[in-house]
Amino acid sequence: MNAPVLDLTDTHCHLDLSTFDADLTNVLERAAKNGVKRILIPGINLDSSRKAVQLAEEHPGVYAAVGVHPHRSSSWNDAVAQELRALTQSPSVRAIGEIGLDFYRNLSPQDVQRRVFQAQLALAAEVGLPVVVHSRQALTEVLADLLPWAEQLPKTLRTRAGVLHAYSGDLEAASRAFAGGFYVGIGGPLTYRKAQDLRDITARMPTDRLLLETDAPYLTPHPYRHQRNEPAHVRLVAQELSKLFGIEETAIAQITSQNAANLFGWNNGSKSNHIL
Ligand SMILES: [Zn+2]
Repeated sequence: MNAPVLDLTDTHCHLDLSTFDADLTNVLERAAKNGVKRILIPGINLDSSRKAVQLAEEHPGVYAAVGVHPHRSSSWNDAVAQELRALTQSPSVRAIGEIGLDFYRNLSPQDVQRRVFQAQLALAAEVGLPVVVHSRQALTEVLADLLPWAEQLPKTLRTRAGVLHAYSGDLEAASRAFAGGFYVGIGGPLTYRKAQDLRDITARMPTDRLLLETDAPYLTPHPYRHQRNEPAHVRLVAQELSKLFGIEETAIAQITSQNAANLFGWNNGSKSNHIL
């Protein structure tokens, strides 16, 4: 029996981190073998954003987002803003991210996080790109900034304003985000034994608003928890969604890859865009 042909997209994968330096070629090969055809690498600070763009320019099917993560908000200044703006000139840059608020770890002061988040939302609107958003114990504040921001976007961007990555909020907040033009990113936590609430909430979401992601090297899905995560494992998230929705894995892959293409503005069908 032949394995089904999958067309998967990992919309959030930190391949720029040094944990992948030694075996990146193997990691990309395993991803391709598991049907992963596109990967988006979000930057977490200026250096990481530069490396994300470089990797995207070197590998077909790999794209980048550029931005400063809330943990790194204290590194933000006008020069960084100027450099990130310049990086968006690369056609491989498809979003501003990873940006947002993290009031759980509070590695940067909350007022600094909020100011830097707002500055990067302004940058995204200026350059006409969607945003990749990190939110931890801050969903109320994140949506308070995001939804009015999205409302004033030009029409072409308003239905593809961004993604709330590794979504862990309730259905009501997700619905407000969907109405505001946002997608949610679903990753490894969906497979955790104790994540029944997340599975119940996800099962009630419209499939045309869901993206698959690994957040590799973090959030490794079951049964590989406590190992380094990698993009090949996005397939395990697709399998879990397939069970939840009672839809074939190939269809889940196709739907979520089309959603990613709609959000990030790449051509879903083009073979030349695939990794390896
Ligand atoms: Zn991330």
